Parts: sequence; C-alpha cells; structure tokens
Amino acid sequence: MKAFTYQRASSPAQAAQLVARTPNARFIAGGTNLLDLMKLEIETPTTLVDVNGLGFDKIEATQDGGLRVGALVRNTDLAADARVRKDYAVLSRALLAGASTQLRNKATTSGNLLQRTRCPYFYDTAQKCNKRQPGSGCAAIGGFTRHHAVVGASEACIATHPSDMAVAMRLLDAEVETVKADGSMRSIPIADFHRLPGNTPHIETVLEPGELILSVKLPKPLGGVHAYRKVRDRASYAFALVSVATVILPDGSGRVAVGGVAHKPWRVEEAERQMTQGARAVHDRLMAGARTTDDNAFKVALVQRTLAEALANSSSAAKKG
Ligand SMILES: Cc1cc2nc3c(=O)[nH]c(=O)nc-3n(C[C@H](O)[C@H](O)[C@H](O)COP(=O)(O)OP(=O)(O)OC[C@H]3O[C@@H](n4cnc5c(N)ncnc54)[C@H](O)[C@@H]3O)c2cc1C
Ligand code: SF4
Repeated sequence: MKAFTYQRASSPAQAAQLVARTPNARFIAGGTNLLDLMKLEIETPTTLVDVNGLGFDKIEATQDGGLRVGALVRNTDLAADARVRKDYAVLSRALLAGASTQLRNKATTSGNLLQRTRCPYFYDTAQKCNKRQPGSGCAAIGGFTRHHAVVGASEACIATHPSDMAVAMRLLDAEVETVKADGSMRSIPIADFHRLPGNTPHIETVLEPGELILSVKLPKPLGGVHAYRKVRDRASYAFALVSVATVILPDGSGRVAVGGVAHKPWRVEEAERQMTQGARAVHDRLMAGARTTDDNAFKVALVQRTLAEALANSSSAAKKG
C-alpha cells in the first residue's frame, strides 16, 4: 500500500473543500471497499479524509412523509430500522442480501452507493482495464464474462454495478443529497446518479470532485408487496448474478428494478406499464437490446424466470391485501 496522510473532517464543507483541493484525495467511510483497493494499489490516494464523526448516522422522518438516511448510516442499522422494515421492505431485504454481517456492520449508505465494480480484470493490475486506467483497453471483452453486463454496456466497458442496496433505492426513486466544495447543495435523483460506461467508464457517477454525499432521501412509502430476489453462485456472501426488486400494488401495477445486468441499477419505467400483460411482457421491454456473450447469455433467461417468480408470489399476496 502506498503511504498517505489521514485527516478527520471537522465539517461537511471542510471535507468537501479538502478533497476537491488536494490532488488524489478520497473520503473514507467504512473503508470496506476503499482499503481493499488501496492494498492492491488500484486506488492510491495521497490523503484520506475521514467523514465518520460528522453526524450523518441518523435516519429521520422528512416533512413529506418519507425518510432521510444519513450517509454514514451502517447497512446493518438501515436494514434493521423498524420504519424501513415496515414501509421500505425491499430496501431492508436488499441490504440483508448483500455481503456478510461483519461487512454490513461497517459498510455505509454512501460507501455502498459508491463501491466499485467487481469485474475481476479491474482488480487484476496485470490486465487491461479502461475503468482502472482510461484508454488501456478492456480485458473482459473477449475474456471470461459470466458476471458481466448484458444491457447498457459499451465497447469500452461491460462491467456491472455490484450494489444490492442501490437496486432497491432505484426502485424507490431515492434522491442522493450532497454538498459541493463551493458549499452549494443538490439533490440528485438516483436514476441519474450512476452513469452508463460509454467511452468514459472510469467516471462512474455524476458527482463532482470533492462532492460529499450527506444523505439519501426516500420518498413517502409506496405501499404494496415488496420483494428482493438475488440469484448468486452460493447461498451467502456473493455478489448477484442477477437480482430483481419488485413492488406490486393491489391494483396489479408495480415497479421492477434489476441488478447484476448493467453498469447501474437497471429500471425501465416503460416496462412497468406492461405489468398487466405479465412477466414476459415486462421482461421483454426491460431487457430489450440485450447484448450477451456465450458466458453471460444465461442472465437474460434468469432475469425472466426470477421476475416471473417474484411477480407471481407478490401479485397473489397483493390481491389478498
Ligand atoms: C467480501 C465482500 C463481499 C461483498 N458483498 C457484497 C454484496 O453481496 N452486495 C453488495 O451490495 N455489496 C457487497 N460488498 C460491498 C460492500 O457493501 C461495500 O464494500 C460497502 O458497502 C462500501 O461501504 P464503505 O462505507 O465501507 O465504503 P468505503 O470503502 O469507505 O468507500 C467507498 C467509496 O465511497 C466513497 N465515499 C464514502 N462515503 C462517501 C461520502 N459520504 N461522499 C462521497 N464519497 C464517499 C469513498 O471515497 C470510496 O471511493 C462486499 C464487500 C466485500 C469486501
Ligand atoms: S469490463 Fe470495465 S472494469 Fe472490466 S476490464 Fe473491461 S473496462 Fe475494466
């Protein structure tokens, strides 16, 4: 690991300014992704700015009937919160499907949103990777691609986003609240927060240099039946091959978001308008334009089957009330 300096931030504005003004500085929250990347020298920050201790560890009701989740709320605490379990069950289930208990005890809301891809070539510094080293090429294209994207990918990168939590937040139309180095604040719809790779896969979100996540706002509860199905290579402690988050309302309408298939949580609102036509119709619109390899073509069928199962169970539960 390369040497670095360490500073505890004293205020959000100071943290944002410090990271914006110091070349190659990074915020650190739980450290469960960043430190792994530093050990491999994929991330080589000169300065770590510790944002623990800034007080963003609370979950509070908002005036419009939703919840504001502090950036530093640990994944364990968010999943266990009684309001989240009752009104945003899809989020609680997605969190509990991610990582291990020990990791969830450390991992934060902001860090989970910003975790980097698990593409094995990204983690292997002997391999070409446009995300790790812009312009160097992509070893995954033509390589082993069982875990890679089937929608929204580009000629430069076919990586997936690994977060379970982010899939549920996309389903719920969460907003990411931030402060920039100039002190201005903004609220970014999660649909716009993560980027597709295009020809700049190293730019993964719309955050500006030094922009600090303060919280994530959940709109007022949707009601309905919530489900999160994660399919993975082993029963626990593995990233999703595919995951499907659903909310189904008593009138048969609903929402669907999918993980493990794209560079960002994948939701196509137009597909949801096919809900009364059944899972096949929703799936065909959701996954339209899928481009697969021999290794990952199974993901398209797996999404369809997982979605069909989720919709069948949730629809009958929603009708029963
Ligand atoms: C073995 C293993 C298995 C895992 N399995 C899963 C899984 O199945 N599903 C899943 O979803 N995740 C999984 N994870 C990933 C885990 O959830 C993430 O490592 C964790 O959520 C990252 O949170 P953190 O607080 O530790 O982030 P950190 O490592 O501290 O930070 C991650 C990134 O976020 C930035 N950052 C942190 N906070 C802020 C902020 N407030 N504003 C701006 N930038 C910020 C940091 O600078 C860094 O770039 C796994 C991890 C491991 C090691
Ligand atoms: S898929 Fe993306 S992350 Fe993986 S090697 Fe290619 S450029 Fe790098």
